[in-house]
Formats: sequence, C-alpha cells, structure tokens
Amino acid sequence: MTKILHLGQTLSFTGDPFVEGPAAATHSSRGGVLIEGGRVIATGEADALRANHPGAEVTDHGDGLILPGFVDAHMHYPQTAMIASWGKRLIDWLNSYTFPEEMKFADRAYANEIAGRTLDLAIAYGTTTLTSFCTIHPGSVDAFFEATQARGMAGFAGKTCMDRNAPDGLRDDARSAHDDSEALIERWHKKGRATYVITPRFSPTSSPEQLSALGALWAAHPDCLMQTHLSEQVDEIDWVKGLYPQACDYLDTYEQHGLLGARGLYGHAIHLEPRETDRLRETGAGLVHCPTSNTFIGSGLFDMAARVAEGQRIGLASDTGGGSSFSMLRVMGAAYEIGQLKRNPIHPAQLLWLATEGSATVLHSEGEIGRLAPGAMADMIVLDLASTPGIAQRSAVASDIWEALFPTIMMGDDRAIAKTYIAGRQMKG
Ligand SMILES: [Zn+2]
Repeated sequence: MTKILHLGQTLSFTGDPFVEGPAAATHSSRGGVLIEGGRVIATGEADALRANHPGAEVTDHGDGLILPGFVDAHMHYPQTAMIASWGKRLIDWLNSYTFPEEMKFADRAYANEIAGRTLDLAIAYGTTTLTSFCTIHPGSVDAFFEATQARGMAGFAGKTCMDRNAPDGLRDDARSAHDDSEALIERWHKKGRATYVITPRFSPTSSPEQLSALGALWAAHPDCLMQTHLSEQVDEIDWVKGLYPQACDYLDTYEQHGLLGARGLYGHAIHLEPRETDRLRETGAGLVHCPTSNTFIGSGLFDMAARVAEGQRIGLASDTGGGSSFSMLRVMGAAYEIGQLKRNPIHPAQLLWLATEGSATVLHSEGEIGRLAPGAMADMIVLDLASTPGIAQRSAVASDIWEALFPTIMMGDDRAIAKTYIAGRQMKG
C-alpha cells in the first residue's frame, strides 16, 4: 500500500486545553502526517518522517496548517435549503420555515439532492463529520447515509421522531417511531462509517409514550447514540413544563423515559437548573454548544466557563439551518463572541479543540476522528492562514501560531480551507 507523507505546519493536542491551557497543543512549523490505507500511521517532524519513510510519496503543503477535519456534533441536513431565514424565534421558526421544508423529504429524490448538497458544502468548509437530524421519513436517513458512504465520510444520524405539535404529514406515532428507527438501526448502524443516532426531536413534539418507546429502543441498542434538544429558549421550557407536569425540569422529561445517558447528545443546553447540570455531569452526557444558532434565533448565552468548571463533556456544532453558517470556523468565532459576553475569552486552542476532539468525544469516537494521531482515520484539512487580504495582513505580524490562527477563526470561510481529505482521499483543492 502506498504511504503518503503530508508536510506543512502541524498542530496537535497531547492534552485538554481546558485543563492545561494552550500548552496542551504542540505546534510544528515543519511537521508531517504519514498516511497509509486511509489512516494516519505516524506524525512528527518533517525531516525525521522523511528519513524514516524514504519510500513514501510526499505532498508538500508549504505553510498550510494541517489539522483534523472539523466534527459538527449537531445539525439538520434537511434544513440546508432554508438556512438564514429571517425574523423568527424558535417555535415560530419551526412552524414558518422548518416544518414546510421537512415535509418535502417524503420525496426520496429531493432527500438525495439535499443530502448530497449538504455533504459537498461540508467538505468545502472543512467539516469531515456531520451529526444530523433527518426528518420523520425513513428515506431521509437512507439518503443521508448513502451520501456519506459514497464520499467515504463518517456519518451520525437518525430518523427524527415527532408524534404531536407538528403538522399533518410530519407526525409518526410511538409504535412506528420505534419500529422504523429499529429497522434503520439494522440497516445502517456500524455499517462502514455509519453510526445510528436515536432521534426524538425534543420533548414538545413527542408524547410521553413516544419518549418511552425510544428509551426502550435505546436500552435494547445501547451502543447507538441518542440526540435531542434541551433548554434552548425560555418559552420552550415553559411549554415543556406544561406538557410534562410530572417532570421536575426539562431534562427530567428525558430521564423519566430512559433518554439520559453517556451516549446522549443534548443540543443547546443553555438555560439549565442545578439539578440538570448535576445529572448531566453524573451521567457523562454530551452537551452540544451551537453558538451561531443561539445568537441567530436569539436563544441565549451558553455558559462555557460554568460547564467546563463542572466537568461536563462539551462538543461544538453548527445547528444548520437554525445556525446561520455552514462554517465551523464561524461557529468557533461565535463561541468566542458568546464567551466574551460572558466575560470568558475562550482561547483559540480551546475553540479548535471543541471543533475537533471535543465533538469527537461527545460522539464517543475519540481516537477515530477529530485527531491526527497514529490509528486515526485520515480525515484532514489544510488551512490557509492568509486566505484573504484582511486575514493575511493580520497573520503576517503574528507572534505565535495562536495569533496566526485566530484571524482565520474570526474572519475565515471556505476560502481558508485549501484542501479537505476524507480517509486520506483528497475531496477539495
Ligand atoms: Zn437542532
């Protein structure tokens, strides 16, 4: 098998920058990543790798910064065509824009078109793993996983389940949600790079019977992940409390029905009560921060410092189309801005970690994605740290790698992604 040695700047984590600070990362101005059979087999200094692997083909990226591809831990591929829709808050936004668009996914050809379009946009923006809600239609899940498999990408997704408070044509029921999801688990879970994610949209659109059925399904398939939304907007929380009078808080609506666990992904998690943060930490659940969505829909400010201090597991996500950008660079920038509003300037090392290893960790896929280390899949990007004149003039006078990278985090877009590789195969550039 051919070995390919990629040379450029490299930046890799040996620890958690929320614990160790920027010293958790190692920068090499002339490093390398050696790939064979779609996986990373060695990393290190360029000269040493060349000397030790004289037969390897060399691809030299010059000053390009070689990084793991971004891992988006929460998004909605069926909302790609209605991203950046104006003027609504959560419940209105769902009814005005989201539900009419999701209705179209009864048509399998449309689902195929949007799945392909979404993945191609992700690759252009340097995102190599998507975690997606689909629609209630099982065909929308088939379309997503067929599209990820065709590109060799890791995909995490599931059929969105809703049996109330949604329009005709977008409701299943407790039984069919369970049975359709189980059939999809049989068809897709652990096939190639696909991971099935049991997906109740959120408590307001599921009856207690449906949440129970999905809790039982998760208990029967404990290596599946489970994803949903939690405490995104204040009026949503009031609605949940009215719908579930027996629950002591929003998280309890999931916990009472077997939907709280370490392999659970809870999108947003902004307005939490102390009991909720305790239970999330005790169970090792994954909190998924969606900053561009939270500012766009006006949901609130995620408290990163408090969640980190509690020892929560945290990933980062675009939440498109509630999020207003396909770019995880923009998502990192928004996380920084929200941090500033909370008087917590999040270091670029921490932002980068969240978009790669942090998200991989909440997906229980650390070691496989989100890090370029021996044994990991070669899902990789090359970042141009001078992709526009405005960014270039700032990075030119940077005193270290973090100052060189931060302008791209704040101002970069798809032009900053010089190359994208999936399992070692070049998909962009
Ligand atoms: Zn969402």
